Amino acid sequence: MIIILSPEATENDLQELIGNLKERGYGVHVSKGVEKTIVGAIGAPDEDKAVIAEQIESFRYVERVVPILKPYKLVGREFHPDKTVINAGGVEIGGSKVVVMAGPCCVESEQQTLETAAAVKSAGATILRGGAFKPSTSPYSFQGLGEDGLKILAKAREATGLPFITEVMDARDVELIARYSDILQIGTRNMANFPLLREVGETRKPVMLKRGMSSTIEEWLQAAEYIAGRGNYSIMLCERGIRTFETFTRNTFDISAIPAVGMLSHLPIVADPSHGTGKWQLVSAVSRAAIAAGADALIVEVHPHPEKALKDGAQSLRPDKFQQLMNEVGSVAAAVGRSV
Ligand code: PEP
Ligand code: MN
Repeated sequence: MIIILSPEATENDLQELIGNLKERGYGVHVSKGVEKTIVGAIGAPDEDKAVIAEQIESFRYVERVVPILKPYKLVGREFHPDKTVINAGGVEIGGSKVVVMAGPCCVESEQQTLETAAAVKSAGATILRGGAFKPSTSPYSFQGLGEDGLKILAKAREATGLPFITEVMDARDVELIARYSDILQIGTRNMANFPLLREVGETRKPVMLKRGMSSTIEEWLQAAEYIAGRGNYSIMLCERGIRTFETFTRNTFDISAIPAVGMLSHLPIVADPSHGTGKWQLVSAVSRAAIAAGADALIVEVHPHPEKALKDGAQSLRPDKFQQLMNEVGSVAAAVGRSV
């Protein structure tokens, strides 16, 4: 249930309520909005709920108690009506500026990563992407450079000032990767890896949670709830395309997921037009559509020599094409009252 405090409620009242709820065995999460303070009380047995709600509603400083019927609570709009703005290494995601993250699919070498980082920065990207621990459908394809890749990304950050996002696949690697990176990426293949979600929920690093390629929006929001349930509310949701019968594109980019997530959740939404299409020729158009639909950020694959890329060359933009994309998305952002 969520408990909406009356405007006169003091900090002492809030603390008293939290103590009361904890005594009853609830997990307590507080959302302080511009206008209202909302307390989420999670985890009481179903049969007690109505009685407890009535008791809580009798408190002088409680305006209203509302049951949350949805299977996700902390990431939903009822609990937190205002949009969440995340600070990732000094870059705000979810505000009026559309953030562009860009870089190679994989960290292949220091030279390739530093060159790409410099190119995406000069085109206007403000976050670097790059995989060091790579999820691969085939066990025979490139698996990433591991910690050496993280060291290269850290060097690129030092050289450019760009914070970086990189994927974590295994709960045992969370501590290591969180030590290096600014944002933890959970890939599509791990959206429902619940021990991993709990582990990143224990950190206070921003997390970008990609949609499972065969997951519904509701399943995706429940996956985010696993992270928030551990106290880490710095979560972004990333639409990266889903499986359909279409084979011309690698995945089917679900444009409607962007406003749907905006309606259901307060979390920022990121669009990945690279994995969403699998074809570099389609990346700019889908980026523009995503921004028009309300995306808060893009994540785009860029490689100085896509023909030599160890992974995802067909969907990677050369730096000049990425610069072109940056020029093209600006007017769409302006049309929806934002900037890039
Ligand atoms: C990636 O970002 O390189 C990646 C592997 O993405 P996804 O999990 O969406 O396939
Ligand atoms: Mn990739």
